[in-house]
Amino acid sequence: MSIISQAYHQAIKEKALELGFSAIGFARSEHLEHDEKPLQNWLDNNYQAGMAYMNNHFEKRVDPTLLVDGAKSVISVLVNYTPKELQKDAEAPKLARYAYGKDYHFVIKDKLQLLFDYIKKTIYPSLDGRLFTDSAPVLDRAWAAKAGLGWIGKNTNLIHKKLGSYTLIGEMITNLDLKPDQPIKEACGGCQRCIDACPTGALFAPYQLDANKCISYLTIEHRDEIPEQFKGQFENWAFGCDICQEACPWNWKARPTKEPEFTPHPDLIHLTKEDWHSMSEERFRELFKKSAVKRTKYVGLKRNLGFIND
Ligand code: SF4
Ligand code: SF4
Repeated sequence: MSIISQAYHQAIKEKALELGFSAIGFARSEHLEHDEKPLQNWLDNNYQAGMAYMNNHFEKRVDPTLLVDGAKSVISVLVNYTPKELQKDAEAPKLARYAYGKDYHFVIKDKLQLLFDYIKKTIYPSLDGRLFTDSAPVLDRAWAAKAGLGWIGKNTNLIHKKLGSYTLIGEMITNLDLKPDQPIKEACGGCQRCIDACPTGALFAPYQLDANKCISYLTIEHRDEIPEQFKGQFENWAFGCDICQEACPWNWKARPTKEPEFTPHPDLIHLTKEDWHSMSEERFRELFKKSAVKRTKYVGLKRNLGFIND
């Protein structure tokens, strides 16, 4: 039995959409039993590569009550980031779609805070909880799937039936007792286009991703030189990689984002191959002032550009 009425459940969902979230769902805050073993196997195989932080807080990752005292529910939200337009020069080094606009961490956190304030003020004054977006040991895709927002596809992304997988995920772990939504059925079926499309073999089997070989990891998180074995395999991706999502039929009709913060710098999509390779540090700072691309820093982007151009 939830502690607020059905009408309030609806009001929270409506408010979330009004704030610009593309979808919202609720799950009971409980131990993620089914995710524990796959996560442990992934770590045991060192598929997390240099993301050492993934080794930390294992218990918290699978049990939200260790993150938030008295947690009853996990509210998951999605924001569609499908760009209105893609980069124009087919020869230009490629940027993952999620990095076109403002860094999603800020966009989602700000909206989640507004949603939190709304619930506390108008529905449940005793509301307590924490907000997350890729910022703490929270298995965001598992929570979104549990909340009925989609299924985890063979490419390891969350796939929403209408939005596809170009979405970013946020959570509010809270003491508010909400009636959970029902998970939906996995709908990859016999497809394995994503696995066939992955150029490095990082996605080596359904639901199995080895970050050591993943272009997204190697161009963003990896700190050293990119191993020579990947020469010629990056298909021109300079920051992130969308290949296993581009291959997915659930993304072929993805509708453009309505989030103004994800509008890129006006020059970004028009940059030519030459513009990328001659980019100064000053220009880099101007183009990516609020973008997640800053994570790799100028020197990291230069490394990636050099690697794909050799
Ligand atoms: S992001 Fe690219 S390299 Fe990584 S698994 Fe997907 S297709 Fe493979
Ligand atoms: S490409 Fe096919 S197998 Fe891969 S995630 Fe999409 S539907 Fe599933």
